[in-house]
Amino acid sequence: MKTHKRILSIFLALALACGLLALTSVTVQAAVRPVNSEATLHSAIAAAAVGVIGNPDATPPIADTRDIIQLTGSFACSSAIVIDGKNIILDLNGFTLSANFGVDVRNGSLLLADPGDGAFNVSGQTGGNAVFAFKAQVQVTSVNTSNAARAVTAGTGGVITVFGNVTNSSESDIGVRANDGGKVIVEGAITVGAKGTYLDVAMTPRTQEQFSFNALYPGYQTYKSDTSIVLVRHAPHVFGDAWVGDDDDHWVECICGEKDEVTPHTLEADLAFDETGHWNTCEECDTKISFAAHDFAAAWETDDDSHWHECACGAVSGFAAHAAGATWLYDDDDHWKECECGVVFGLAAHTPSDWLVEVKPTAVTAGSRFKVCTACGFVTESESIPATGTGGGSSGGDYIIKKYVGQLGCYTTYESSFWNWFKYIVLFGWIWMWFI
Ligand SMILES: [Zn+2]
Ligand SMILES: [Zn+2]
Ligand SMILES: [Zn+2]
Ligand SMILES: [Zn+2]
Ligand SMILES: [Zn+2]
Repeated sequence: MKTHKRILSIFLALALACGLLALTSVTVQAAVRPVNSEATLHSAIAAAAVGVIGNPDATPPIADTRDIIQLTGSFACSSAIVIDGKNIILDLNGFTLSANFGVDVRNGSLLLADPGDGAFNVSGQTGGNAVFAFKAQVQVTSVNTSNAARAVTAGTGGVITVFGNVTNSSESDIGVRANDGGKVIVEGAITVGAKGTYLDVAMTPRTQEQFSFNALYPGYQTYKSDTSIVLVRHAPHVFGDAWVGDDDDHWVECICGEKDEVTPHTLEADLAFDETGHWNTCEECDTKISFAAHDFAAAWETDDDSHWHECACGAVSGFAAHAAGATWLYDDDDHWKECECGVVFGLAAHTPSDWLVEVKPTAVTAGSRFKVCTACGFVTESESIPATGTGGGSSGGDYIIKKYVGQLGCYTTYESSFWNWFKYIVLFGWIWMWFI
């Protein structure tokens, strides 16, 4: 029994925990409110929650709690659609809502779930406007009025998007107005009556031609004051013939900044270069890509006549004709001279001189002699000369003693013999007697 009770209590605890988990994970589900008539539309707007436009990127994330008003059929609304202080999603669901007495949204939003799925066309007017927004965001498919002072007006903090055309066919009224920080985006065209005003920004009338292009809004004609802006889709684009490129792609560009034919560069196999550096070139657009200063290799490049340093791009540095260095280089067999690049000049076998006595032998001490290359001075051979010995009668005769003083075949000659010394002594004595 005890065991059964314990199992039961564990089971109950688990069930409770699961129940709590389920409770805490419940989120506020936006209501979907189906409408198919003017009456049900007004009821749905009245019943809709205040709603918040979600932002998953905020910290902490803001959940979207907007109610969805979903069309279940097409219908027209002959009274004003007014929303104040609520954020609502309008799901056209493939149907058409004709707002024939204007749309007025304040302190909230009326945004389309999918602008391409159905149509939200506005005509007539509420107040002086067919579509009006004040501290509110509104999206509509088109605006076409013949009796509004302004087809579209975005006042303080208002943002209105018209995915199609704006038409105000009344004689002398205004197409679009943005003032006090309002913003209007028109993806189609604005058309006004013969004496009408195309649009005004901060109450300053502008003609269709008084636009500029702004890099912040590529593809749009920009009509702007300090705080208010109207953007009208610039179409058709006129793309230039010349390629425009950055490091990755090339394209053709309309004066409005819109790009077309964006294509990655096709790099030529070889680097191009001038005296300042080298770069890749696109075969299509000729854009210089990845410019860099030359990096000349430390090793020499050579041909029969010249030497130089080379960069990977083919640029050369230090180009000069080969020239032999002043110094002989040698090994045991040969001598030669070298250019600074290492090219060899005058490679030839050593040409040994006659024997040159360095140390004259005496009766008791050995001497030495050697041969040098007459060109490079390399000692090709050396050996000792035996002592002449005390018993021998040889005075040694004349020895030519050449003293090696350098590498380039320079030797100083000393003559050393008894008879030479005798001649000097006789000559000195004769000069001495002459003076006294
Ligand atoms: Zn353009
Ligand atoms: Zn290119
Ligand atoms: Zn280079
Ligand atoms: Zn050289
Ligand atoms: Zn030599």
